[in-house]
Amino acid sequence: MEAADFIVVGGGVYGASLAYELVNRGSSVTLLEAGELASRASGGPGKRGVRANGRNSRELSLAREALARWPALADELGSDTGFEQLGGLMLVDAMPEHGEIGLARAEAHQRLQRGHGIACEMVDHGELAELEPGIAESQIAALFNPDEGIADQRRTARAYASAARKRGASIRTFTPVRQVGTQPRPYVLLEDGSTLPAGRAIVLAANFGTNALLARSALPRLPQWTMVPQVLMVQAKDDYQPRRLCGHLQKTLAVKPLPDGITMISGGMRGKWDDESAEGQPVDAKIKESLDVAASVFPPLDDGVLLSADASSPETYTPDGLPYLDFHDEDRRLFVATGWHGHGFAIAPAVARHAAQWLTTGRTPDLLTPFRIHANPAGPGKGCHR
Ligand SMILES: Cc1cc2nc3c(=O)[nH]c(=O)nc-3n(C[C@H](O)[C@H](O)[C@H](O)COP(=O)(O)OP(=O)(O)OC[C@H]3O[C@@H](n4cnc5c(N)ncnc54)[C@H](O)[C@@H]3O)c2cc1C
Repeated sequence: MEAADFIVVGGGVYGASLAYELVNRGSSVTLLEAGELASRASGGPGKRGVRANGRNSRELSLAREALARWPALADELGSDTGFEQLGGLMLVDAMPEHGEIGLARAEAHQRLQRGHGIACEMVDHGELAELEPGIAESQIAALFNPDEGIADQRRTARAYASAARKRGASIRTFTPVRQVGTQPRPYVLLEDGSTLPAGRAIVLAANFGTNALLARSALPRLPQWTMVPQVLMVQAKDDYQPRRLCGHLQKTLAVKPLPDGITMISGGMRGKWDDESAEGQPVDAKIKESLDVAASVFPPLDDGVLLSADASSPETYTPDGLPYLDFHDEDRRLFVATGWHGHGFAIAPAVARHAAQWLTTGRTPDLLTPFRIHANPAGPGKGCHR
């Protein structure tokens, strides 16, 4: 069988978008997914926030590009992504014990974001209450970005995969990869014992599966770990729902309005992850804490009915909160894209395009340089040893 130029391991939003961008650049691609497409971090209930607010400066240009692309992405891919441009708020709590720190922080983010060409403005409590009726008095201000919104992670990943398939990519689900190797040429060894060679490189977009796969391949692991963000679905009384994508500058909270009057509450509270079984479980104490935090910011959510709690979607986290994007080996035959730290979805349309350019031309795009796995700790990358 003729080897594809690239073998992509992982069928989440990154594997699927990378496959799409690679075939668009004329490369042949085989994508291998252990289970169903979009069944792990790019799966699970609810929707994902598409936000620039509050991001690290090194992700802001990518966020600007992605925000510009999201509204037309479904048309480009030929399938729905569930994107809704609701506008996004990063809320600021009075927290009198912290003085004006919240406001100063939000204003600093505003200056940084505008410097990267991202539309955002500070709104005071009065303007905030108009944008988000039902917000607590304690929420004194917010950073508002009209271009932000929410999208359906599963539909988006599948839309990318289906567009990639239409352009010639081979997409193989229920095909777990046991090992990867680069010598004498790039290859993957499948669980069924067969080997697939790649003409140019293996692209590891396996997220939580990355380090296990590297370890099985006797290759150095990356400094990242796995956690399961917890997602709650709540039905408030009197048909109340927040209207925007809301995050919080000081509190562990994100809320999103979903169909049928359901409010999704997430934002960083963790479930319990078991590495061995690769399964996550919600944690009762964290469910209560999450509901309390949400009700302190959105009082009408108090006494709402908790419909479900989920912690089934594992995500990888890194010490600096930034992903790893780079060739893992000196010969540039094994590329990794991982460590999304709970906010990789929104920027995928921009990251995948730049990464595909890198893979096909060999030239590192400036915007991805901060995420490189560099041997030289003083270099522009993240200073990990190969
Ligand atoms: C609950 C939750 C809420 C989030 N909220 C947001 C948000 O609001 N905004 C935002 O921007 N981001 C958010 N994120 C982060 C975002 O969803 C992830 O960063 C993104 O989905 C990661 O995509 P991925 O393709 O890298 O990983 P995944 O979707 O996990 O895909 C990796 C795939 O690799 C496969 N795989 C693993 N090992 C192997 C192997 N050996 N062989 C073959 N296949 C393998 C897995 O089965 C999996 O399907 C959230 C994440 C979670 C979990």
